[in-house]
Amino acid sequence: VRETVERTRVVVIGAGQAGLSVAYYLRRLGLSPGSDFVVLDRGPSTGGAWQFRWRALRLGTAHRVNDLPGMADLGLSFETADRTAPARDVVSDYYDRYERFYDLRVRRPSDVRGVEEGQDHGLTVRYLDGGGAPRFLDTEIVVNATGTWGSPFRPWYPGRDSFAGRQVTTAEYTDASEFEGQDVVVVGGGTSAIGFLLELERVGARTTWATRRPVDWFDQQELGIEMGAAAVAEQDEAARAGLALPSIVSGTGVPLTRRNRAGIDRGVLVDRPMFASIEPEGVRFADGSFQHADAIIWATGFRPELRHLAPLGLRSREGGVVVSRGASQADPRLYFAGYGPQASTIGANRAGRVIARQVLLALSTSPGRAA
Ligand code: FAD
Repeated sequence: VRETVERTRVVVIGAGQAGLSVAYYLRRLGLSPGSDFVVLDRGPSTGGAWQFRWRALRLGTAHRVNDLPGMADLGLSFETADRTAPARDVVSDYYDRYERFYDLRVRRPSDVRGVEEGQDHGLTVRYLDGGGAPRFLDTEIVVNATGTWGSPFRPWYPGRDSFAGRQVTTAEYTDASEFEGQDVVVVGGGTSAIGFLLELERVGARTTWATRRPVDWFDQQELGIEMGAAAVAEQDEAARAGLALPSIVSGTGVPLTRRNRAGIDRGVLVDRPMFASIEPEGVRFADGSFQHADAIIWATGFRPELRHLAPLGLRSREGGVVVSRGASQADPRLYFAGYGPQASTIGANRAGRVIARQVLLALSTSPGRAA
C-alpha cells in the first residue's frame, strides 16, 4: 500500500561529497531544494561516509580532501582546517554548515530500499523514514550517490567461517585499543591497511600484513599525479564497459611518505604474500607456515552500494552497470554520482557539475514539462 506518495522531479540518493555536489549545482541551475529535487540520506548525521570513519583518521593522514563547490562562500576550506582533528568530526561539521548555508534540506534518516518503475514513465523511490515508516517519492530522475561504505568487500578464503577470533572490515574498525596486545593479521594493500598497522603498533598489537600483490610503493613527488590519472582512466574504462570496478589501490599504489618509510624501517610495514587458508587459531600461508591470530582485519576495499537499484535490472552480464560521464547507458532516467572514475572527493565535485547539467537538459526535454 502506497500510504504517502509525493511527487518531485529529481531524487538524489546520498548526501556525501557526490550527492551534495549534485544538489549544489541543481540549485544553482534554478531548481528548488525540497520541492523540485529531494536529497535522501540514511545516515543519522551529516558527513556522508566520513561520519563513520575511525577516529584516528585525521585530515593530515587521509589523502587530500577537496572542498565542496561553493564552500568558499561560507569561508570554509579543508586546506585550512585542523589537520590533527579526527577527519570525521571536521567533515561532518563542514558539511552540516554547507547544507544549512545552501538550504539543501536533506531528509535524514531516509533509507532507500528500492527504486522501481513508477507512473507516467517515471520512477518511484521507496524509502523508510526515521520511524521506519515506508515512504514513496515519484520522480522523473534519480541521481544515485550512495558511495561504497555500505558495501565492504571481504574476499573468501578457505576456512573463513571456522576462525575463532574476531574479523572486522574497514567499515567496522573503530579504534586500535580494541586490539591491544593481540596478534592481528591485517589484509589489504592500501592506505587503510597502512593506517591500521601503524595504529596497532602504538597499542602494542603484534601485526602481520598480508597482501594479494606486493605493495606498490611509489615516490610521492615523482609519480603521484601520473598514477592517480591512470587509476581514474582505468575506472572510467570499466564503468563504460559495465565491468565490475577494479580496486583503486591496484591502480594507484601507495605513497612512500616519511611516515610510511619509517614504518618500513621499523619492520611494521613489511607485507607478505596473502595466506592460503584460515584456521580456528590463525592463518596458514602457502609455504606451510602458520601465524596465530586473535583478529583479522579486512582492509580489502568496497564495492558500489547499488542493492536498492536491483528492481531496475541494470547489471550487465559483466557484473557492473554501464555508466559514462555519470549517465546510466541503460536507463536515461538514472545518473551515478561518485561512481567509478568519480570516486574521490575531487571526482565527486566534477560529477556534480556534469550530472546537474545533464539532468537539467533531460528535464527540459521531458514530455509536457519545462525545467
Ligand atoms: P559517501 O561519502 O559514502 O556518501 C554516500 C552517502 O549515501 C552516505 O551518506 C550514505 O549514508 C548514503 N547512502 C548509501 N546508501 C543509501 C541508501 N540506500 N539510502 C539512503 N542513503 C544512502 N577520497 C578523497 O578524495 N580523499 C580522501 O582522503 C579519501 N579517503 C578515503 C578513506 C577511506 C577509508 C575510504 C573508504 C575512501 C576514501 N576516499 C577519499 C574516497 C571516497 O570516495 C571519498 O571519501 C568521497 O567522499 C566519497 O563520496 P561519496 O559522496 O561518493 O560517498
